[in-house]
Amino acid sequence: MRGATDVTEYFYFFCPKCPDDRLLRILDCCFTKDEKGNKYNDTYKRKAVRSFIIAFDVTCEECGFRDCVKVSNIGWQGGTHSNALQRHNKAA
Ligand SMILES: [Zn+2]
Repeated sequence: MRGATDVTEYFYFFCPKCPDDRLLRILDCCFTKDEKGNKYNDTYKRKAVRSFIIAFDVTCEECGFRDCVKVSNIGWQGGTHSNALQRHNKAA
């Protein structure tokens, strides 16, 4: 799934089925993980305060698309999107 910010700091998810980067509506969110500290803090200069996963229930009013999107800081800490995709494909 893709998305972007507008001129503010707010991030918007785009519908993967509709043209022209139509914005998804977020119906709900919840923390499925929220713990103090982060296992990567010993490796990196900047320290994360917590380890988290936030799950978003998203939908497209136009085409009816509905999905769950997660944002976390316990997976990739950098690198490239293509690297993340390759790793996922190898694991599948
Ligand atoms: Zn759509």
